[in-house]
Amino acid sequence: MSERIRIVEDIMGANDRLAAQNRADLDAAGVFAINLMASPGAGKTSLIEKTLEKLAGSLRVAAVDGDIATSIDADRAAAAGATAVQINTGGDCHLDAVMLRQALDQLELDQLDLLIVENVGNLICPASFQLGTHKSVLIASVPEGDDKPYKYPTMYKGVDTLVINKVDLLPYIKFNMDYFRQGVELLNPNLETFPVSCVTAEGLDEWVAWVMGNVEGFKQTGK
Ligand code: MG
Ligand code: ZN
Repeated sequence: MSERIRIVEDIMGANDRLAAQNRADLDAAGVFAINLMASPGAGKTSLIEKTLEKLAGSLRVAAVDGDIATSIDADRAAAAGATAVQINTGGDCHLDAVMLRQALDQLELDQLDLLIVENVGNLICPASFQLGTHKSVLIASVPEGDDKPYKYPTMYKGVDTLVINKVDLLPYIKFNMDYFRQGVELLNPNLETFPVSCVTAEGLDEWVAWVMGNVEGFKQTGK
C-alpha cells in the first residue's frame, strides 16, 4: 500500500469514527438528522424554507448550513423559524464529521426533534463523507438536465431519498423524466422519489409527510 493511500484511508477512518460519535449523540438526544445534498442552485435552501413553514408548530427544527462563504442560507433558515448554525468551510467543497461536530456543539440537542444539514452545493464529494446523520437526501432539479444520474453516479448511489425540484419548469425545459428515472433506477433501485416545486407547492405535502414519518418512526424506535 502506498503512503498516499494509507494517509487517505486514515483520514476517512478518523472521519467515520467521528461520524459515529455524532450519530450516538443525536440518538441520545432523540434528534433525527437529514443530510441534504445537491448541486449549487438546485434549491436546497428553498426546500428547507418550505419544509420549515410546513413543520412550524409540530417539530422543533434546527438547520446547519454548510457553505464555502457567507451566511446567506443560514439567515434564510433562521428567518423561516429554525435555529440555524452556519458552517463556513473556508473553501472546502463538502462538509465532514468534524464540521458537523462543531455545529452540534452550538446547539441544544435536547431541545430539538429534527436537524436538517444543508451540505455544500456539489455533486461529487459530499457523498463520500459520513456526517453521522440518519438519512441522506439528494435534490436534483429540472434545469440541471436529465443526464445527471449518468454523470454523477456516486451521488445517486449513496442516498436514501431523491427530491426532484422545480418540476414547474418541465413545460419549458428539455428534460426527459423517463430517461432521468431510468438512470436513477440503474444506480439505486426503488429509490423513494418526490417530485416537487417550491414555487407551486406541488409535491411538498408528500415530502414533508416523509420527513414527519421518519421523525416519528425514529422517536418510537429510538434509532
Ligand atoms: Mg443553499
Ligand atoms: Zn469536497
